[in-house]
Parts: sequence; structure tokens; C-alpha cells
Amino acid sequence: MFEGPLQDVIDEFSRLPGIGPKSAQRIALHLLDEDPEDVQRFQTALGRLQDGVTFCRICHNISQEEVCRVCADSSRDKSLVCVVEETKDIQVIERTGEYRGRYHVLGGALDPLGGIGPKELNITALVQRVGGALPDVPTNEVDANNEPILEPGPEVNEVIIATDPNTEGEATAAYLARLLRDFPGLSVSRLASGIPMGGDLEFVDELTLSRAFAGRTRL
Ligand SMILES: [Zn+2]
Repeated sequence: MFEGPLQDVIDEFSRLPGIGPKSAQRIALHLLDEDPEDVQRFQTALGRLQDGVTFCRICHNISQEEVCRVCADSSRDKSLVCVVEETKDIQVIERTGEYRGRYHVLGGALDPLGGIGPKELNITALVQRVGGALPDVPTNEVDANNEPILEPGPEVNEVIIATDPNTEGEATAAYLARLLRDFPGLSVSRLASGIPMGGDLEFVDELTLSRAFAGRTRL
């Protein structure tokens, strides 16, 4: 246990996700040894974090401007939208360098028991992006009884659902697939899930293996 400002900094770092007390101590001691200039830069960046960040009005990605860098990039395919749960999922997909379309961030996944219904997610905005209008979605219900008003999509013609392969993510994918399937000229797909690269069949769980069978591709 240290005392004074050093312990305060250790306590603050300990509260962050993925940082245990030992790492917090190591970071705090490291900062204590750093050039005051470097510490100042860190302090300024932290101070600007919440004021300088907003959400893209098109895709709800975290952005510095009204429209995020991906949506503002004219070389990206506007007709293709990849639906993800969180902004951090965009970073993961971007790292592959494979995807050249745009995104849509839902802000979570459907979880009726946790009080997360369609209204808590950016689903209306997604429907609007593909050219429809969703007047009223019941809260805390996975099944929407209100049919969206169907109009031809203005520029989006493919939606790839990339929600997490867990209970909530699967429920969200099923809900979106049902909601979007009747839009004229719109194709809806789900990111394939299966056996990890470098993996061994012997160690793959049954659920993953059955998904891999269901999502098999022709060679
Ligand atoms: Zn955007």
C-alpha cells in the first residue's frame, strides 16, 4: 500500500477493465518516472476524451465529427452495411482489411431479461438506412408485431449481421433477419461461425461444430 497521490492513481487504474492491482501499480510507478511532458500529454488526452467524442449520425460509430471516418470515406461501398453490437467490433473487423462497406452499431444485443428490447438498440435507424420506416417497436419484446413500412432501399442492398455468436447475439440476428427479409432488393446474411483456424476438430464444442455444419460452404 502506497500513500497520497500515488495510491490515488493506483486506485483509479485498478478500476479500469482488464487492469488488476499489480498492473495498476506498475503503470502508476511508470508514470511517476516519466518526463513531465509525457504525463501532461496523457492528462490532456484523458481530459478531452468525453468532450471530444460523439456518435456518427449515420452508423452510431464513435466519432470526432458528425459523420465518422468510415462513413465519410467515399471509397467505401455504401450499398453494403455490416451490423455490429459495439463500436469495438468495428475495430476488429477493420483489422482484417477484408471489409470495404459501411457499418451499423446497434449499441448492444437483445436481452429481454436484462430489459434490453428493440427500442433500446439503434434498430429504427438501421431500418431507415435500408429505406423503411418503423413507426413503433414494442419495448422488451423480441417479436415485433408492427410490420415495417416497406419501400425500396435508397442505397443499401446488402446487410451482413455480425452480432456475437452467443444467446443474445443469435436472438438479435434472428430478429433483424425477420425484420429485414421482406425489403425489396435487400439481401441479408449472417457472418459464418465455425471451427477456429489452427484448431483441432477434437477440441471443438458441439454447438460450434453444428453451426459449422449448418454454415458449410461449397468448394
Ligand atoms: Zn459512421
